[in-house]
Amino acid sequence: MPCMHDTTHLKDAIRQKAANLGFAHLGVTDTDLSAYEADYFNWLGHHYHGEMGYMVRHGVKRTRPNLLVPGTVRILSLRMPYYSREAANPIEQLQQPEQAYIARYALNRDYHKLIRKRLKELVAFIHQLAPGFNYRIFTDSAPVLERPIGEKAGLGFIGKNSLLIHPRAGSWFFLAEIFTDLDLPLDPPFEKNGCGPCTACMAECPTGAIVADGVVDARRCISYLTIEHEGDIPEALRPLMGNRIYGCDDCQLVCPWNRFGECSHNPAWQPRHHLDNIRLLDLWQWDEETFLKNFEGSPIRRIGYERWRRNLAVALGNAPYNKEIVKNLSQTIDNASEMVKRHILWALEQQQKKREKSGEKKNRGTPFPTRVRKAHLPKDC
Ligand code: SF4
Ligand code: SF4
Repeated sequence: MPCMHDTTHLKDAIRQKAANLGFAHLGVTDTDLSAYEADYFNWLGHHYHGEMGYMVRHGVKRTRPNLLVPGTVRILSLRMPYYSREAANPIEQLQQPEQAYIARYALNRDYHKLIRKRLKELVAFIHQLAPGFNYRIFTDSAPVLERPIGEKAGLGFIGKNSLLIHPRAGSWFFLAEIFTDLDLPLDPPFEKNGCGPCTACMAECPTGAIVADGVVDARRCISYLTIEHEGDIPEALRPLMGNRIYGCDDCQLVCPWNRFGECSHNPAWQPRHHLDNIRLLDLWQWDEETFLKNFEGSPIRRIGYERWRRNLAVALGNAPYNKEIVKNLSQTIDNASEMVKRHILWALEQQQKKREKSGEKKNRGTPFPTRVRKAHLPKDC
């Protein structure tokens, strides 16, 4: 193993290579996450993880990296921006109830694959400089406490919305890690929490999912409900979801630090199939074959067609009364799965109520529950 002097230069070379591969920041930390362990197990104790039982099954592997990868002495934490300057304005999409809103990170290719490829290139480079080191790469792919690791490695602070935020880069970025036995010099942790008295994300979360500073109850979070949750979406939460059909970005959109967010110029993050600006009814026309074909290589494919239809049905129910919506929902009910059928029936009921309330002729609908009134989009995009 090289001496300390050599490892400093080695780290500089790794950092430069990581930048060339599109990573905006690389920090190095050790494996001691004990300061985060109690909070994590409290969160599990409150059942805020919902149906994500794997989080309990992994036990302390998440908070003790050495149990996950024995021999690890350092963790390289990396971030890659994904906010595409090419995408339509997210607030305009949220404010148009017949449009679909998809989380910014999912408008394009599956980031897991692209980031893994880049991480493999990075470790191949490190192997040339330091042959024989051991490593494992991760990108949201194993029990890894990504945000605490990022905070310890100096990549930012964990905000009240539980996301990692850097004052000069906001929070629109993916995280990735390399666990290694290479004894690189440590970076100082990010110690200053930048939230101060701000509570914008807590106040604007459509479902009230941010229950305390940095604590998200996944069972109420639209990201969880539209992606991870397998069964029926609780009826009480459906009207609050608006037109968000895959994920939710509201707690990033309102965060003032995202004025300083970075934009990605990587063509891999450019929206595909007009997903940044598309009508709910257009997506409702997609049969399963189209869904599978259009979402080839997309993270959305993993939720499957049934959950996709469930989410769309809820959003169509939340749209103002529209004869076309009622017709399309009614025409597809017979061939729907039992779960989707229940959501279509709910959506038809909402449409009917709005029709009665506003009168078919006027077709005004009800006010749309978009809570984001003031967004802080990256200024340099
Ligand atoms: S992603 Fe949406 S629902 Fe989840 S905590 Fe953030 S604002 Fe709330
Ligand atoms: S919106 Fe305000 S409170 Fe929430 S994470 Fe951003 S700075 Fe912190």
